[in-house]
Amino acid sequence: MTAAGTERTQTLWEATAAPPPATAALDGPVDADVAIIGAGYAGLSTALHLAEAGRRAVVLEAFEIGHGGAGRNNGMVIPALSRAYPADLRARFGPERGERFARLVANAARDTFELTRRHGIAADAVQNGWLQPAHSPGRAWQVRERYEQWAALGADVAHLDRSRTAELTGSPLYHGAWLAKSGGHVNPLKLVRGLARAAIDAGARIHTRSPAQALVPTDEGWRIDTPQGAVRAGSVVVATDAYADRLLPRLRRSIVPVRFFQLATAPLPEDVRTAALPGGHALSDTHADLYFARPTVDGRLVSGGALVFGQAWRRRLPGHVLQRLRRMFPALAADTRFDYAWDGKVAMTADFLPHLHQLAPGLITLTGYNGRGVALAVAAGRVLAQAAQGHPVDDLDIPATALRPLPLHGLIERIAGLELLRYRWRDLREVKV
Ligand SMILES: Cc1cc2nc3c(=O)[nH]c(=O)nc-3n(C[C@H](O)[C@H](O)[C@H](O)COP(=O)(O)OP(=O)(O)OC[C@H]3O[C@@H](n4cnc5c(N)ncnc54)[C@H](O)[C@@H]3O)c2cc1C
Repeated sequence: MTAAGTERTQTLWEATAAPPPATAALDGPVDADVAIIGAGYAGLSTALHLAEAGRRAVVLEAFEIGHGGAGRNNGMVIPALSRAYPADLRARFGPERGERFARLVANAARDTFELTRRHGIAADAVQNGWLQPAHSPGRAWQVRERYEQWAALGADVAHLDRSRTAELTGSPLYHGAWLAKSGGHVNPLKLVRGLARAAIDAGARIHTRSPAQALVPTDEGWRIDTPQGAVRAGSVVVATDAYADRLLPRLRRSIVPVRFFQLATAPLPEDVRTAALPGGHALSDTHADLYFARPTVDGRLVSGGALVFGQAWRRRLPGHVLQRLRRMFPALAADTRFDYAWDGKVAMTADFLPHLHQLAPGLITLTGYNGRGVALAVAAGRVLAQAAQGHPVDDLDIPATALRPLPLHGLIERIAGLELLRYRWRDLREVKV
C-alpha cells in the first residue's frame, strides 16, 4: 500500500512484543500495603520498587497492561522535559528543590536503561542517545543554551555544530543540536510488559480488567472498589496520566488529553537506513509542532504528529507525515509505505510540567508528562514508592504542587487541536536571541 493509506490498525509494538504475563481480574477482597491504579510505566515501576522493599503492592488496571500511553508511544527514552530546563525548574521550585527535580530528569534515561538491564527486560533497547536539533538559527542558540544547562548539572550531553548534526541525523535541515547521550529508544510495549513481569517476580500482584471505580477513605487507609472485588490498602498511588477516567474528576480536569498519531514505515532499503539517522539516534527537534523520528531494530522509522482536526486522520496523516519525513531525510523515497498507524492520548498541563499531588493523606498521584513519560515515569516509580511508604511529600525528588483543575476544561479539550495552528505560526517565526 502507498503513503496514501495504511494497512493495519494494530500497533507495530503489538505485532512485535511477546505476550504479557498472565493476569486476571480482581475477584473478591484483598489487602495490600499500597494499591496502585494504572498498569503503565509509573504504576508498574512503583509496584516493582515497593515489592523489592518488601511491601505488598497490588496494581489495578482498567484494561490490559500498557493499555495507555505506555503501550502506544514512540519509544523515545528522553532525559529532558518538553519545555522546562534546569533554570526553569530552579526558578519555579527554588534552588534546592528545582535542582533535585532537574537531576532526576537528567538521570531518568540512564536509570530506565539500567532498570531494564537489571531485570533482563528484552525491550529492543538502544542507548545511542537522543538528539534535539534546531530548525532555525535562533533555535540553534537556544539549543546551545539548553546543552550548557544540562552540562552544568553534570549530565552526559554534547553540543553539535551544523555539519556534525547533518552527519548524525542524515538531515540537511538543521542548524546544530544537543545530544543527550544517556537517551535512546525502546519498544515501548515490550518495556511495559517486561516491567509487569519484573514486578510480579518481585512479589507484586497485577489485576487487569479491574477498573478502580471508587476510592473510599477507611480507618486504616483506603478501600478501592472494582466491579468484582475491593483492595484495602494503607496508601494509594494513582498513575493514570492521560487515561484518567471519572474516578477523580478534579484530577482529570487538571490535564488536557491530546491525541497523537504514530506511523511506522515498512522496513527501509539498506541505503536509506544508512542515510536517515545512521547512528541509530532518536530525534525530536525544536518545532513546537514537533518533527520526530526514531529507527527500529528491524529498519523502520516511526514518526507521527498531531492534527488540528483528528477525525479523518487515517486518510490525511500518511501524506502529511511522509512529507515531513522527506523534508528531514531526503533519502526517503516518495512511495515510502507505512505498515502501521495508531494513536494515543498525551496528557498536557497548563505549564508543560508533570505534577505530583498529594490529594489526601495516603493518596498520591503524578500526572502530565507532556509526551516525555517513558524515562520519567519509569524513574518516578522510585519517588512514588517512597511517597507511598510515608516519606514526607515536601522532601521528594519531584516537588509536590496543589491540584488545579483547568477552568473551562470541556471547551479546552474540544479545541486543543487548534493550538497546533498557533504552534505552526510560531515555528515559522524566528525566536529573539
Ligand atoms: C502517541 C504517543 C507517543 C508518545 N511518545 C513518547 C515518547 O516517544 N517518549 C516519551 O517519553 N513519552 C512519549 N509519550 C508519553 C508516554 O507514553 C506517557 O507519558 C507515559 O506512558 C505515561 O506513563 P503512565 O504510566 O503515567 O501512564 P499510562 O502509560 O498512560 O498508563 C495509565 C494506565 O492507567 C489505566 N487507568 C486509567 N484509569 C483507571 C482506573 N480507574 N482504574 C484502573 N486503571 C486505570 C489506563 O488504562 C492505563 O493503562 C507518548 C504518548 C503517546 C500517546
